[in-house]
Amino acid sequence: MIALARRYRPKRFADLLVQDHVAAVLRGAVARGRVGHGYLLTGPRGVGKTTAARILAMALNCPTRDPSGDPCGECESCLRIWNGGASLDVIEIDAASNRGVDDARELRERAMYAASQAGHHKVYIVDEAHMLTREAWNALLKILEEPPPGVVFVFATTEPQKIAATAAPVLSRLQRFDFRRIGPASIRARLRQVLDAEGIAADDDALTLIARHADGGMRDALSVLDQCLSFGEGAVSAARVREVLGLVADELYADVLALVADRRPEGVFGLVDRLVDAGADLTEFMGGAGELLRSLLMLQLGNEPEGLTEAVRQGLDSYRDRLDPGDVVRMLRLLTETEAPIRRSANPRLVVETLLLRWTMMDRMVDLKQVLEGGAAERRTVGRGGGPGPGARGASGEPMVRPPAGGEMRKVEIPPIPPPAAAPPPVPADPPVRPSALSDAWPGILSEVRARSRFLGEALAGVTPGPVEGSSLSLLLEESNPLFAERLQAQAGAVEEVVQRHTGQTLRIRVSVAEAGAAPSKPRPMTESSVRADRLRSFRAKDPALDTAADALDLEIVD
Ligand SMILES: [Zn+2]
Repeated sequence: MIALARRYRPKRFADLLVQDHVAAVLRGAVARGRVGHGYLLTGPRGVGKTTAARILAMALNCPTRDPSGDPCGECESCLRIWNGGASLDVIEIDAASNRGVDDARELRERAMYAASQAGHHKVYIVDEAHMLTREAWNALLKILEEPPPGVVFVFATTEPQKIAATAAPVLSRLQRFDFRRIGPASIRARLRQVLDAEGIAADDDALTLIARHADGGMRDALSVLDQCLSFGEGAVSAARVREVLGLVADELYADVLALVADRRPEGVFGLVDRLVDAGADLTEFMGGAGELLRSLLMLQLGNEPEGLTEAVRQGLDSYRDRLDPGDVVRMLRLLTETEAPIRRSANPRLVVETLLLRWTMMDRMVDLKQVLEGGAAERRTVGRGGGPGPGARGASGEPMVRPPAGGEMRKVEIPPIPPPAAAPPPVPADPPVRPSALSDAWPGILSEVRARSRFLGEALAGVTPGPVEGSSLSLLLEESNPLFAERLQAQAGAVEEVVQRHTGQTLRIRVSVAEAGAAPSKPRPMTESSVRADRLRSFRAKDPALDTAADALDLEIVD
């Protein structure tokens, strides 16, 4: 089986993917008989530079050329050139292996011979041209200064700046074309076209994964597709592509975002277990995580990221509002700090675990904003210099860090939970729950929850219920225990159900956490949350200008 990349290599300017700007100029030059003596084709690998050079050579030598300038692509001359190396009139040189002055001298001598037939052009295609030595360029410069008739040089390079450094005078004699990266959508479309021609089916996600991996290069995309085809029978699935490329399942990336958004450091170990069990390459995982965060940031800043699979797209949509763009930038920064260590480390697993733990334990901008906004609101109502409000808990001995009324709270919004299908419809005539009714029912609620789950019961035991506002019930967690808060949030539905049974009311639960600022005089062990609380307190001491500057400052202060 001929490799797809070869079988489907374009034969006409019209088929050059994405490089229309180049194709149009070259085709026009051929049609008008005004082809130059030297061209420089630059751009990333696999985007069609050498292919364009061959099409130019085909067009110059095709006896049945189209009036538009396109070669026929079918005649003996065209096919010989297209296959590479078998034509007398087209000489392909790989500068990476022939870079010296001797070759250049030989080239110069050979260039003196005319083309094999009258009316033909002799085309030299020099690949990896940045590898040529200064001496070689000097020899070439002499040819280009007085080019023999009918001789065309086409230099292709991924690194034009190197040519500028070694051979600036040559550059001024070349017409330069910059080839573009081929976008994921164009690569997907082309892959689909090739598969249709081959009569093979494929998932959209499979093609998306290949396009992402190819990173702008059509040749790479087609050779990955080749590998996938030889690896299995039937339709090309996303799973097969992942297997071939050693990619991590998209669901795992979505799970990472969930752990970060929900602050669940304890879930990190299980996730890395799953990664390792699936045989994932951890460095590849880190690269994928970086891509994911970049896409998330693009979405948050109003750009449309390309090349996402359905699973990833859904994951990003559900987390774009739960993570602040500033936090995503900080996650990316932590990730880049980890990239070098993971390559050196004897224990890459530990490196990945540490990174994910740092992400899940990271101080978060949304929280800080809420603290600051909450504080600002309190100041407006209580007034500057007012004593601790009735809701303040504990005595503050430090005037600089006096907590606002209500204590320093970190409010964590729980996304609305859809009512369970079997739940009875709420009765509109329900009287509002009186605070006393709730406190009366509380011991019963607590013991029933405890009977269900000891851990959830423990979490709920540290809670002061109320107040009830409309249909929402605030639960203030007195102890700043992220695991308790996390569990209460995760199982709010279960608690709501018990509350409903004991009070006859359908209430949505909101969990708030009283920060440790309530009792600042008591020495506390240094925990992750106490450090966070201290930092928040020091922010507040620098009040009041901080509220407005919070966004900008957070990036610098934290972590
Ligand atoms: Zn032809």
